[in-house]
Amino acid sequence: MGYVMTSVSRLDSSTQFAMTTDLPASLLTRELVDLSHGNTMALACVADTVVTLTAEAQLDDFMANYTKDIAQNKPLFVLSGGSNVLLPAHLNAIVLQPQMRGISLTAQTDSYVDIAVMAGENWHDLVVYTVSQGWYGLENLALIPGLTGAAPVQNIGAYGVQLEDCLQYVRAITYPLKLGIISQPPTASLAIVTAFLNVRLIPG
Ligand SMILES: Cc1cc2nc3c(=O)[nH]c(=O)nc-3n(C[C@H](O)[C@H](O)[C@H](O)COP(=O)(O)OP(=O)(O)OC[C@H]3O[C@@H](n4cnc5c(N)ncnc54)[C@H](O)[C@@H]3O)c2cc1C
Repeated sequence: MGYVMTSVSRLDSSTQFAMTTDLPASLLTRELVDLSHGNTMALACVADTVVTLTAEAQLDDFMANYTKDIAQNKPLFVLSGGSNVLLPAHLNAIVLQPQMRGISLTAQTDSYVDIAVMAGENWHDLVVYTVSQGWYGLENLALIPGLTGAAPVQNIGAYGVQLEDCLQYVRAITYPLKLGIISQPPTASLAIVTAFLNVRLIPG
């Protein structure tokens, strides 16, 4: 599987902006999972299966394990920060949690800066990071809850700015399950967003 990003910076408070690599790890799969802490309304919810992705390389395993179930109509539900969902008491689905982390600079000129962002980054932390670098475009979208992967699906907006104003492409799994690049904004029924590509910002 090809990667766009060779190095990334994480937004953990402990290792903020340290350079690291998107190393594959084994797929984390759990059965009968309590998701009451996985949605901001804290609704009681037990999911049949939860698969957590921490590296895009795990997608090969995910597809190998679940393509057949999904083709046979087992629902697939993507859960990021859980701030815009109302979960049922029993979620009869394969719940996919994209938690890949990382931000990378993909282009920089006098007039623009392009960054790529993995879907598991916290949205507000990303805004704070870009502003701290002197890159402008996302600042009106500060304090919107959730993770970056949900942002293009929701086409988040505030104070006259929408994400589509600066987001050019996303990398996403489309149906039938295949990783590719699509122009934004995707819809939740069309794609599972794994990364933003080319968020174009203006240097200050
Ligand atoms: C207090 C509050 C304030 C808010 N203010 C704003 C605001 O100002 N502007 C605004 O636009 N929104 C706002 N929202 C809505 C919410 O923050 C956004 O919709 C946000 O993008 C949801 O992110 P999340 O990670 O919590 O997504 P979730 O709640 O986990 O998911 C939301 C939807 O996106 C889908 N999804 C999630 N991740 C992916 C992915 N990687 N690929 C494909 N589909 C995916 C899910 O299946 C679900 O349908 C607000 C919400 C709250 C609770």
